[in-house]
Amino acid sequence: MQNNQKPQISAAQLVDAKIMECRCGGRIFDSKLVIKQISAIMSPTSNPLDVPIQVLVCSNCGKISPMSDPENLLPADIKSEKI
Ligand SMILES: [Zn+2]
Repeated sequence: MQNNQKPQISAAQLVDAKIMECRCGGRIFDSKLVIKQISAIMSPTSNPLDVPIQVLVCSNCGKISPMSDPENLLPADIKSEKI
């Protein structure tokens, strides 16, 4: 389980923090959705189940940042390499 409580961050801490970059050098990310479908056989409802997954996509190269997929739910071909 992930801890959803965000630690308290001060502005001064953010000024000194580095900006995370994509492997391509991109620094701006868009929030987007990938939708995975759980097959009827695996689904708890016995019907195919669409599950949206929120991801961060590099505005420059269009690949998903591995930062936004810590549980490795998505295939490598749509993600940029780990930085
Ligand atoms: Zn990129």
